[in-house]
Amino acid sequence: MKILVINAGSSSLKYQLMDPETGDVFAKGLCERIGIDGKLNHKVPGRDDINRDISMPSHAEAINAALNIMVSPEHGVIKSTDEIDACGHRVVHGGPTFSSSCLIDDKCIEAIKKCIPLGPLHNPANLTGIEACLTAMKKTPQVAVFDTAFHMTMPPKAYTYAVPFEYCEKDDVRRYGFHGTSHRYVSGRAAAMLNKPDAKIICCHLGNGSSLCAVSNGKSVDTSMGLGPLAGVPMGTRSGDIDVTVVEYLMSRYGYGIKEMTDILNKKSGVLGISGVSSDFRDLEEAIAKGNKRAELALEKFVYEVRKYIGAYAAAMGGVDAIVFTAGVGENSSSIREKITRGLEYLGAEIDPDKNKTRGAEADVSKAGSKVKVLVIPTNEELVIAKDTQEIVGKKH
Ligand code: AMP
Repeated sequence: MKILVINAGSSSLKYQLMDPETGDVFAKGLCERIGIDGKLNHKVPGRDDINRDISMPSHAEAINAALNIMVSPEHGVIKSTDEIDACGHRVVHGGPTFSSSCLIDDKCIEAIKKCIPLGPLHNPANLTGIEACLTAMKKTPQVAVFDTAFHMTMPPKAYTYAVPFEYCEKDDVRRYGFHGTSHRYVSGRAAAMLNKPDAKIICCHLGNGSSLCAVSNGKSVDTSMGLGPLAGVPMGTRSGDIDVTVVEYLMSRYGYGIKEMTDILNKKSGVLGISGVSSDFRDLEEAIAKGNKRAELALEKFVYEVRKYIGAYAAAMGGVDAIVFTAGVGENSSSIREKITRGLEYLGAEIDPDKNKTRGAEADVSKAGSKVKVLVIPTNEELVIAKDTQEIVGKKH
């Protein structure tokens, strides 16, 4: 089977054609600057990258550019788009409606549209990608896979905000959480590595956006992001948890409107905000090596908050079997993993500095005898999307 996995952003579209059984990737790529001019980067394993400037006024041209190159006689990996059995779409906010992936039909599209007020930054772009694929591949089934769905198993005490209950009941105000597809994948791999299906696992998805998730017996029981992806630990450019009084204070002091204020919290805060250097953790580490104190504070704050969440989730679950690191920072930065776990010895989690030198591969990096395993597991959200798509399309036929 060949599944085309699509992740559509406001001006970008990532795609990956893959086999859901083996995880083999036939081709993948990124369309960028959609609505501006248009750039395609296309990769086929074992071949040179292809980079092209192609006019992309909308996502429709972007998906056509991707499909054209996949079927081209020169660079193609398939003879015709009929070989694509189904498309799987990443959709960020599934609201209270979606606790699992679903086949895209008119009802599903309406329900995704209803979630736009909850996910105003992402859902409209995700829908544009879906619509572009429905137009380009009229007969191909399409499936939506939601970032929030994995967290729908959280108990009310974890997802309820302490605001007047009418907002929770009438307006769907609650914690939803994100990165669910990643947390589902890495927690599943961790349980398999431990050979313990009912394990208590704390997943640390640390990338440009970061979230932690407490997983018990294969189910998300708490997570650090909230109704939106701004909550939790400080991120590349997002503030993470913040006292709302700060928002009120800055708005009244500088006369900011709500849009200006949320832009500051989403795009100018986090480690970028503290350091003034970069949202990229590699740049931070470079600046720290040159003696930049604000970069040092930014990293220290990030590490401290991640460690606090680990402690909180160990307490929430009454113990922990494994702490898992994933995503750009979690998979690649041995020094940040080391800093986070330093001080977790009381929990029984100890890292082996030699084993921790690993990058981008599954590994148990805990010290021999460490009661709590520390694991590095590269995430694979595309594989989860492809597998869900295969399962749902398989049921339909
Ligand atoms: P992601 O959002 O998962 O793609 O992760 C992107 C983040 O991972 C960026 O902030 C990168 O700086 C960070 N990253 C990637 N490789 C490394 C590394 N070797 N050391 C530190 N951070 C890294």
